[in-house]
Amino acid sequence: MHIFWHQRDLRIPDNRGLAMAATEADVLPVYVVDTDMLTNLGKRQRAFFMNGVDELKRRYRSLGGDLLVRAGDPADVLADIHEEYGAARVFYNRQYRPARTERQSRVDEAVPTEAVTDLVLVDPGNLAARYENHGRFYDDWQDARKPQPAETPDGDALVDAADDTGGLDIATDIDLPDAGYRAARDRYDQFLDAGIETYNDTRDDMQAAIDRPVGAVSRLSPYLAAGMLGIREIWADATERHRVASGDAQRNIQKFRYELSWREQNFHLLSHNPDLLVENYKSMPNDIAWENDDEHFEAWKRGETGYPLVDAGMRQLNQEGYIHNRPRQNVASFLTKHLLVDWRWGARYFAKQLLDHDPANNYANWQWIASTGTDSVDVRIFDPVAQMSKYDDGATYVKEYVPELRDVDAGTIVDWPTLSEAGRKRLAPEYHHPIVDRNDAYERAQRVFEAALGKR
Ligand SMILES: Cc1cc2nc3c(=O)[nH]c(=O)nc-3n(C[C@H](O)[C@H](O)[C@H](O)COP(=O)(O)OP(=O)(O)OC[C@H]3O[C@@H](n4cnc5c(N)ncnc54)[C@H](O)[C@@H]3O)c2cc1C
Repeated sequence: MHIFWHQRDLRIPDNRGLAMAATEADVLPVYVVDTDMLTNLGKRQRAFFMNGVDELKRRYRSLGGDLLVRAGDPADVLADIHEEYGAARVFYNRQYRPARTERQSRVDEAVPTEAVTDLVLVDPGNLAARYENHGRFYDDWQDARKPQPAETPDGDALVDAADDTGGLDIATDIDLPDAGYRAARDRYDQFLDAGIETYNDTRDDMQAAIDRPVGAVSRLSPYLAAGMLGIREIWADATERHRVASGDAQRNIQKFRYELSWREQNFHLLSHNPDLLVENYKSMPNDIAWENDDEHFEAWKRGETGYPLVDAGMRQLNQEGYIHNRPRQNVASFLTKHLLVDWRWGARYFAKQLLDHDPANNYANWQWIASTGTDSVDVRIFDPVAQMSKYDDGATYVKEYVPELRDVDAGTIVDWPTLSEAGRKRLAPEYHHPIVDRNDAYERAQRVFEAALGKR
């Protein structure tokens, strides 16, 4: 028999490591509650994760097996179970975050193992080690072979074991979406039925984001981050839809498939650059002159910067553990450019708040936005006024999260940071004045980043 060690892959279908173990022998699935690792997660994501483990246990039981849940250091726990059950090998899906790869190395030293590529469609080792930008990555990634979904093992493949140790700390006081494969699959089906064929046209439309939260975009990210749905399964279904569609529908579906390539690139980046979470990816001749003003950082965290789109984004994050991608880009740009606060501060705050936090996606995106990553533009600065005018001109999104502005007309909200102080006081006395001047902050960011790049 083999052991399968579940980590960020809380599902049975399309689980390559599990499927591979099951083709060779009976499998005993194990989840190790690793307190050191779990404390890195925010409260919300930890709770969602534990609900996912609980649901996974139920799924295994419904198949006639069980998920062994043990607490401790994975190397010690897996070595004990390996000996107790006389297992041949421990299979696991390869992870890329340094803290996890270290754990995997210690497990490799303790017991015979088999590591499998599962989190991504294309193994980072099958592509070049470094790409200058996404376009170059995409060309190679697009041509690479993508495997079909892995077989789902049935009950006969499972070791007949019962585990009554419990040990799961399930939080009941946090409002969370349903966890597990079934809930993830339902969400994807909803998106396939009413979303994917218009995805490109609605993905940046903030009115649509409020009217149809699942549909305008997929909202799959919490499930992908916890591995509750396999990436090959997502890819295969989107690809089949793409094959039978034509015209506009096909163009929209293609955009969804394309967006998945950003996720793939981020895993590729982390896999080849373990320092991605702490060091600038791009080397610059000079240091970036960060201001790192604590008061500015606190105002940003609370959603009180006086920039409506930024504040709505931060409040959505604080309330729901999610931000739509458009405001997500804007809040990150505002922090690193207009406020000149180090991207690491923002990324760490996101890590604690997001339900969909994924180290590769979070840190690579922060670096991209901060112009320290793989963006092909040297210094990109999002102007939150122009961005709101383009993507939320009816202020639907802003009014949803910033109640102080609900009685103000949309056009005035767009221009909020440019109004006079007296005007702002009259229109919405409870809402905040801009903490930095729009033009000064923009120009300062330009200067600071050009100096870091040695262009001044
Ligand atoms: C500063 C910043 C931090 C981010 N942190 C995270 C994070 O911790 N976890 C996370 O999953 N995403 C992160 N993203 C990427 C993106 O914002 C989310 O993946 C997306 O908003 C999730 O919503 P969705 O599932 O509805 O996306 P959809 O638009 O429906 O896209 C489908 C899937 O494609 C992938 N995807 C789409 N855009 C991106 C992208 N730019 N980068 C990587 N993957 C992408 C995601 O897996 C997403 O679930 C971050 C973006 C920024 C700018």
